[in-house]
Amino acid sequence: MKIIGLIGGMSWESTAIYYRRLNEEVRRRRGGLYSAEIVLRSLDFTRIVALQHLGDWDGAADILAAAAQQLEAMGASMVLICTNTMHKVAEQVQRAITIPLLHITDPTARAVCAGGCQRPLLLATRYTMEQNFYLDRLRQQHGLSPVIPCEPDRALIHDIIFDELCRGVIHEESRATYRAVIARGIARGADSVILGCTEIGLLIGPADCPVPLFDSTTLHADAALDACL
Ligand code: GLU
Repeated sequence: MKIIGLIGGMSWESTAIYYRRLNEEVRRRRGGLYSAEIVLRSLDFTRIVALQHLGDWDGAADILAAAAQQLEAMGASMVLICTNTMHKVAEQVQRAITIPLLHITDPTARAVCAGGCQRPLLLATRYTMEQNFYLDRLRQQHGLSPVIPCEPDRALIHDIIFDELCRGVIHEESRATYRAVIARGIARGADSVILGCTEIGLLIGPADCPVPLFDSTTLHADAALDACL
């Protein structure tokens, strides 16, 4: 198989999901002792979070672009940014390399469409829910009409991601909070849910959700294998 390049560490809790998923899928698809060919550049998340807080997206783009160049130099045939939020700088990262960047929104949106859904509730960080880089791609490139949680719910979702999930903390009350947010989203017309943050799958899954649920993490990893196996 071709080598998959991962820019991870944002947070490493979700990068671990990518690593496991890629290897489990290779074993499922090929059997035996087959495992995934991967190069990983895992960043220190505190540097990235500090730049997010400052709104210094160009500074963050420089770090991710350098990481992508390192992956290309190590033989990667494509690059994945293992976080939805940092796709805010996807264009800068793609410009820095000659191999393709597999954008996380695309396999996620394709799965929503293939599932016959149109109005996915987007659960993600504030950056992803409130800025245009992700929503515009869902709308303009995939024809979807995403539903954004209301303000108090956005705060709850965002804080649980950074205060708990990115630190490996799982609370039953937070699962209940997410379930309640999903119920309110469905009441506002959502027909499905996108886990648009790579850690949320640590907390909730299809059993927590009465409508189809699309996890960007596993969809992103599986799409990389489709291209590289
Ligand atoms: N991993 C999260 C995401 O998918 C959030 C961490 C970050 O800010 O990059 O958006």
